[in-house]
Amino acid sequence: MVVGIIGAGASGMAAALAAAENENVQVVLMERQARVGRKLAATGNGRCNLTNLHAMEGGYHGEDAAFAETALASFHVEETLNWFQGLGLYTVAEESGRVYPYSDQANSVVDVLRFALEKPNIRLSTGFEVEKVKRCESGFRVESAEETVICDRLIVACGGLAGTKLGGSMSGYKLLRSFGHKCTKLRPTLVQLKSDWSGCASLKGVRANCHAAIYRNDQLHLGSEGELQFTEHGLSGPVMFEISRDACQGGGRWVCALDFLPEKDGAWLQQELMRRRNTHWKAEDLLTGILHNRLGRVLTQAVGISGYVPIAQLEEEELSAVVNAVKHFEVTLTEPMGMDAAQVTAGGILTAEFNPATMESRLVPGLYACGEVLDIDGDCGGYNLQWAWSSGRLAGKSAGGNT
Ligand SMILES: Cc1cc2nc3c(=O)[nH]c(=O)nc-3n(C[C@H](O)[C@H](O)[C@H](O)COP(=O)(O)OP(=O)(O)OC[C@H]3O[C@@H](n4cnc5c(N)ncnc54)[C@H](O)[C@@H]3O)c2cc1C
Repeated sequence: MVVGIIGAGASGMAAALAAAENENVQVVLMERQARVGRKLAATGNGRCNLTNLHAMEGGYHGEDAAFAETALASFHVEETLNWFQGLGLYTVAEESGRVYPYSDQANSVVDVLRFALEKPNIRLSTGFEVEKVKRCESGFRVESAEETVICDRLIVACGGLAGTKLGGSMSGYKLLRSFGHKCTKLRPTLVQLKSDWSGCASLKGVRANCHAAIYRNDQLHLGSEGELQFTEHGLSGPVMFEISRDACQGGGRWVCALDFLPEKDGAWLQQELMRRRNTHWKAEDLLTGILHNRLGRVLTQAVGISGYVPIAQLEEEELSAVVNAVKHFEVTLTEPMGMDAAQVTAGGILTAEFNPATMESRLVPGLYACGEVLDIDGDCGGYNLQWAWSSGRLAGKSAGGNT
């Protein structure tokens, strides 16, 4: 039996290895790029956050997020880590539950998968861009501009639209739609959020630990603590990715409230600033030694204090205004950045049209899908790759007939 797999990203490689465990199966893995796992190699800022120890506790979204549960249970986090260890990957978990390769290199993850694919019953075909897929008597006819592959069963593992520079595209959605499958609305998630506050551009590149909370029309939407990064266009970094889902959608006034000193209360900071009135420092250094210098200056200026005034001359109320800016700084959000800047696509092929126990299409027998192309997306922190491994393995095992 021949199992064709379109896409050699995270889920496609997991599917290929699972299907090939049945020695009577011949796997043909088709990848349009010159090498496998190109997006995977860029994940986690080049470190690849390959799973999360808490991924079994939820953290998945979609029109029917419960669809993901069967695949996640069939190949859970512990099994995933054992599987990677078997492939030769040594991993380490951070206190937060995020798991990384011990080498701290995403390439290590790609390498062990790439080596594992070197099996007699797996044929890897790179530079193979699938343009058309049709049903034929013996199964499926998969066509690129130059080549045709005939297979009995077919897995679509083309990923989503996010991260377009790394290979994200509409391809998988189009191929599955050509079989009659429906696609929900696609939108970027785990993405930086734009702001019209001019301070963002002047703080470009500055990183700060903070508590960030997003409000829509003064109602709390989501909040989290972690690293924030200012960019030319707005707010980025892990803490924003964590709370970016659905932000700026559906109208209304969206605001991000930032606490740049979450581990200390306002009274502590007020006392510390009062103490600084005994120094010869200028106001521009009021927050020196506490926050990043550029951030300290921007916050001091934002409350109308000139940087040249000696701290000794500042009134207590002026210091309170600075404390307030540090503990509760509001930045208006306008919209998320586009798909090219997003890590993940929210939305995708309707899961109701697939069997969660096998990942097989309910419309076309012998057709399977896995990974980001489906309407499942996870929280920031390794959840999306866990979905790719779990759904990919389940699709591969089912298509390979070795369940
Ligand atoms: C910058 C960045 C950082 C990220 N960091 C993390 C992280 O640390 N942890 C985490 O959990 N998630 C992370 N993600 C998300 C994660 O990478 C994806 O959710 C995951 O890779 C999806 O796996 P997939 O197999 O569905 O798709 P992909 O890994 O995108 O693979 C799809 C493959 O299909 C190929 N393909 C598409 N169309 C065709 C076609 N017509 N013919 C042939 N081949 C085709 C593509 O070239 C690609 O190689 C990150 C994403 C980005 C963009």
